[in-house]
Amino acid sequence: MPVLFPTTVDEATTALAAHPESMLLAGGTDAMVGINDGHHRPGATVISVNRIADLRSWRHDPGAGTLTVGAGVTYTELMDPSIAALVPALAEASRTVGSPQIRNAGTLGGNLGTSSPAGDGLPVLSALNAVVHLATAGSTRDVDVNDFMVGVKRTALEPGEIITGVTVPVVDGWQGYAKVGVRNAMVIAVASTCVVVDRARHTVAVALGSVGPTILRCPEAESFLAARLDWDSLVASDADQAEFGRLVSAASQPITDHRSTADYRRHAVGVLARRLARRAGATS
Ligand SMILES: Cc1cc2nc3c(=O)[nH]c(=O)nc-3n(C[C@H](O)[C@H](O)[C@H](O)COP(=O)(O)OP(=O)(O)OC[C@H]3O[C@@H](n4cnc5c(N)ncnc54)[C@H](O)[C@@H]3O)c2cc1C
Repeated sequence: MPVLFPTTVDEATTALAAHPESMLLAGGTDAMVGINDGHHRPGATVISVNRIADLRSWRHDPGAGTLTVGAGVTYTELMDPSIAALVPALAEASRTVGSPQIRNAGTLGGNLGTSSPAGDGLPVLSALNAVVHLATAGSTRDVDVNDFMVGVKRTALEPGEIITGVTVPVVDGWQGYAKVGVRNAMVIAVASTCVVVDRARHTVAVALGSVGPTILRCPEAESFLAARLDWDSLVASDADQAEFGRLVSAASQPITDHRSTADYRRHAVGVLARRLARRAGATS
């Protein structure tokens, strides 16, 4: 198959416009599985985005209070202490992804490109209301990540578009990510939860993975905990943590499949949410 190696976003979008049938390749950890499973048209052009420096970098804008991460930044890079200090939940989620080899190759842009409901980076981006940056030949646009992920492995990406990066706020407060799988390491999430507590805005955000067709937010649980938290200590009572977990379970829409049952998944996200609420109060 022909493989192109653009070195700029412009070159990549121009190549994509010239070869609309082509497949974008970042770390290849999802794409190669797709090729092996026969989901990719043999002979179609592959456009590797690995050599685009803009996609491989990240920048912190202290004035805006944001972190912008290029689509080609890997999980290993996201675990770097300098990124972990700004967006701890993203580093925490990255640590749970696959094996060292997968974390060295797999990228945040690839996680978004696939948009599996089990993608570990995605609940974090959802809870942070990340902005996804997209480019096509001649134009760019920004999309709220919660509008970008539209269904099981379905996104709002238009033909000819590539993901260039995401911008997330640097939140004053607490954030955490937790995941349950069939074993401790090298595991796709059976259920996952991200909680972000924003002390400045007095808001709580909760996003769930692997319990719906895409990442789910839990508005009722979010406003419940926000109304009950002590905003100095970020502590909620045991009873409020339990009710928060119950509301999160109620917001899930799990199915039974080869990895788990709907009942277990519904229970698990409630437990994860309750634990994260407890951790918020214990560590802040
Ligand atoms: C053994 C194994 C274990 C895994 N474990 C986990 C896990 O624990 N958690 C988890 O979340 N995932 C896991 N994965 C899945 C995978 O590693 C992640 O989804 C990863 O983020 C994919 O990134 P990538 O760079 O490899 O993407 P690729 O495979 O290169 O691409 C994935 C998709 O995104 C598209 N794409 C890539 N870059 C762009 C871009 N810039 N713009 C538009 N589209 C783009 C591609 O065309 C493709 O459709 C695992 C995979 C394997 C093989």
